[in-house]
Amino acid sequence: MKKPDKQFIKSLDYEEVSSFFSSVGEKDYRARQLFNWLYERNVTSFDEMTNFSKELRKKLDSLFIVSPLSLEEHRVSPSDGTEKYLFRTFDGHYIESVLLKSEGTDDGRLTVCISSQVGCAMGCVFCATARIGFRRNLETGEILDQLCHVRRLTGLKNNNIVFMGMGEPFMNYDNVIRAAEIMNYSFGFHISVRKITISTCGILGGLERFMHEKQPYNLAISLNDTDPEKRAHSMPVEKKYPFAEIIALLGRTFPVSRNRLTIEYIMRRDNISRDDARRLKKMFKYGRIKLNLIPLNPGSDAFGAPGQEEIDNFVKELEIMNVPISIRKSLGADISGACGQLSGKKYSTE
Ligand code: SF4
Repeated sequence: MKKPDKQFIKSLDYEEVSSFFSSVGEKDYRARQLFNWLYERNVTSFDEMTNFSKELRKKLDSLFIVSPLSLEEHRVSPSDGTEKYLFRTFDGHYIESVLLKSEGTDDGRLTVCISSQVGCAMGCVFCATARIGFRRNLETGEILDQLCHVRRLTGLKNNNIVFMGMGEPFMNYDNVIRAAEIMNYSFGFHISVRKITISTCGILGGLERFMHEKQPYNLAISLNDTDPEKRAHSMPVEKKYPFAEIIALLGRTFPVSRNRLTIEYIMRRDNISRDDARRLKKMFKYGRIKLNLIPLNPGSDAFGAPGQEEIDNFVKELEIMNVPISIRKSLGADISGACGQLSGKKYSTE
């Protein structure tokens, strides 16, 4: 299916919507009204925008699409209540979003994990999305529409956002940042910047730009190995952007930035030794950085999942060294909705 002639209205930011309205002779306040309909009221058609004239609704409908994604499948984990949503794009690709429920999230709230690309080019060995390869970037409207669907189906009003679904957000930097900005509009979703986390496997240029632009969102960087050689094996991005360079960048920028930073570390049998703990301690000397430990999920079978005793020993080592840590319970593994398991596959037809 080829791209429709109409634009996705949700790809437009406030300035663009305003200038559209002024080009058709409408007042500026229409832009706020439109964002309110699209996000706060979360409607699915221009027809529902009842404070717009019939002609204006018709005009909008002739030029724009409200909802670029169609929901194909919705699965709920019987074990922990995690919800996974499979969407179809206009050109026949599948992407996924996940709703993580309170008891498993480390801060006891609801979190929507959204995708930024169709597939991913980064090739992390433990990741099902990597096996799809890179297909294309998602448009801002497609990023936002994931959240619109999830909120409409669940009645959610207040939730955290993590850009940790399919794709590397910093390889689709402009669309991701624009989506985060629109999420923050007070006349839309009005999600606080403190509730939005952008995750990266370590794209140095993206991180530099993010810091340089003083983006206010939380940041999460996936480390997963303290030994560069091992990291290069599981995360090929290490060959292009060694983590040592990211540490150097953080050393220059992080102490004066206001971002909250989390280092993501998926625990495997072979990356939780005493030496790993020591190297982690050396890497993160800033108290504001938190190390997020995630046990390896089933299905990521290129490596062995550690036993509880090995995990406990590793955690003890880190605690002795005063490394600030949190342990994220692995959620949604039984519906392939956990970290590294998003494959954009339709399950009902398998
Ligand atoms: S873990 Fe993230 S960056 Fe790595 S391949 Fe998967 S989606 Fe891409």
